[in-house]
Amino acid sequence: MKMYLMTPGPTPVAPETQLAMAQPIIHHRSPQFMEILGKVREDLKYLFQTEQEVLIFAATGTGAMEGAVINTLSAGDTALVIDGGKFGERWTELCNVYGVKVERLAVEWGHAVDPKAVAKMLDANPAIKAVFVQANETSTAVQHPVQELAAVTKARPGTILVVDAISALGGVPMPMDKWGIDVLVAGSQKAMMLPPGLAFVALSPKAWEFVKTSKLPKYYFDFAKALKSADKNQTPYTSPVSLILGLREVLTKIRQVGLEKIFAHNRRLSLATKAAMKAMGLKLYSKDNPSDVLTAVETPVDGQKVVAELRKKGIWIAGGQAQAKGKIIRIAHMGFIDTVDLLGTIGGLEEVFNQLGYKVAPGVGLKAAQEILSKEAAV
Ligand SMILES: *Cc1c(COP(=O)(O)O)cnc(C)c1O
Repeated sequence: MKMYLMTPGPTPVAPETQLAMAQPIIHHRSPQFMEILGKVREDLKYLFQTEQEVLIFAATGTGAMEGAVINTLSAGDTALVIDGGKFGERWTELCNVYGVKVERLAVEWGHAVDPKAVAKMLDANPAIKAVFVQANETSTAVQHPVQELAAVTKARPGTILVVDAISALGGVPMPMDKWGIDVLVAGSQKAMMLPPGLAFVALSPKAWEFVKTSKLPKYYFDFAKALKSADKNQTPYTSPVSLILGLREVLTKIRQVGLEKIFAHNRRLSLATKAAMKAMGLKLYSKDNPSDVLTAVETPVDGQKVVAELRKKGIWIAGGQAQAKGKIIRIAHMGFIDTVDLLGTIGGLEEVFNQLGYKVAPGVGLKAAQEILSKEAAV
């Protein structure tokens, strides 16, 4: 049986990438490897749309999130955390562990933050040194308005914007330099089409200034040390050689295809998915800025059961987390996903809903999806 990973991480990996990663291990201090890392460094700048160095760590995305906290702040500093879901909570947890004071801006699940509310909090408390947010809050499938938030922090020399784009980078536009994002965090196993195991982070010149004064303890995730090594096409410790070979393959493809086309592809799949869900009588869970890389809908039957039944067909989608558990399902359409994967998932969902007692006319979701797909040109 085939397995379809329609989950918001991990996502499917292309056969060419798998083959690249199956190559013999070379030494991480060899000239061959340094040449590869040199190429990867350049291509990562294209993906992040930045002129700054993109640091690579052998970790999942959370490692780079932790790094972002400990490299820019000190104990006793104050941070503003935008918390509109499970991953927003993670920023607070990280700050708590390291003694960073948190001013929490709670956003109702399914909604996006209002940049004006952030500006107001920063005006009220000029001591706030960092604003932490998710580009795409994966637990609610909502995109926070990163560009507008960056406009708010850009005007304040004492405050940086730290963006967790682990599920967004490579899937939706996130031009770091143009928007003025200060710290941009990504991970390999979502829109970047790689296995789990690589974390990435890039810092603006303003954020590098913060690094100079940060006093929180750090060892493996020491950004300054990683930057020094990167200048020599190295990582401070053993490089995850196989994953880097896969990364080189993926980044080469991304550059060949072009970011704009990839974003348009994701958007096309997103529109088709959302139309299909609506035709099946399901409501979007995301009230503001519904994500282009995944779709969350409220389910009339137990969402956990929908997920479990669909798995029996080889199709993996995600349920809700925490307060949304059982109430929603989440279908990812990020990375190496095509229209066949998507239509199969929608067809499978129609069957499962009928099986679980929520009656949908067979083909009603598929028809709506196909109408969108035929209107929106393939890219
Ligand atoms: C997946 C995800 C993470 C965590 O990634 P890990 O790979 O589990 O460390 C963090 N933030 C967002 C928005 C995510 O989607």
